[in-house]
Amino acid sequence: MHLEFERDLAIRYKSLSQKIWVVSENWVNKEVYCPNCGNTHLYKYSNNKPAADFFCDNCNEDYELKSKGNGLGLKIVNGAYQGMFNRLQDVNSPNLFMLNYDSNSYLVSNFFVIPKHFFVPEIIEKRRPLSINARRAGWIGCNILLNKIPEVGRIFLIRDKQIVSKQKVCEIWQKTLFLREEKKIGSRGWLLDIMRCIEFIRKKEFTIADIYRFESILSKKHPDNRHIKDKIRQQLQILRDRNYIKFSGRGTYRIL
Ligand SMILES: [Zn+2]
Repeated sequence: MHLEFERDLAIRYKSLSQKIWVVSENWVNKEVYCPNCGNTHLYKYSNNKPAADFFCDNCNEDYELKSKGNGLGLKIVNGAYQGMFNRLQDVNSPNLFMLNYDSNSYLVSNFFVIPKHFFVPEIIEKRRPLSINARRAGWIGCNILLNKIPEVGRIFLIRDKQIVSKQKVCEIWQKTLFLREEKKIGSRGWLLDIMRCIEFIRKKEFTIADIYRFESILSKKHPDNRHIKDKIRQQLQILRDRNYIKFSGRGTYRIL
């Protein structure tokens, strides 16, 4: 995997956004493999398929590409809020590739994929409607909040200009595919909440008491649920059944 963009491709384009689009799309096309099945090549959609930019001809997974220069930040500026919201329910929606580059050197600094099953309403932030003077007055865009996504849902292929092994990338991808079977966004949301709690603890082994410490935060988030502890235990069981964590006896869990 090379980290350089092909600068020459950008010469004939005037606007900076066009230049970046051309070189980043070309880079993904040449360098990036399918994190779902490991297929060495991804293909560009030839015409405007809504949202998706690339597909894998082996496993049919779709990917959308977003690029951002310099600092990665905590938010990704995304398109229309309503469109994004509708997409959350759609099983055919693409996964998201995020490419972060250095605009001086034209080198890729970070590249990660957010699998589509990590998209739940709470990671979508509504922006203010465009002012009445804007060309698209009243239009409402949205941001994707990266810090609301569990770390396991931001799978880096390149991190701080270091290439992560393909084997590791594919392994992490496989670990959370079970989330796709949770068709209801609400139940997926609960699992993601507990996965984030586990990450916050920052220990390979943790106890049920460690997770209960998040009870008040979780009950604020889910005010209708009056049995948060029961819910926590239930979610841990699901995560255990899905081989995401292991129960190692005496109330201790281990992250696999
Ligand atoms: Zn594939």
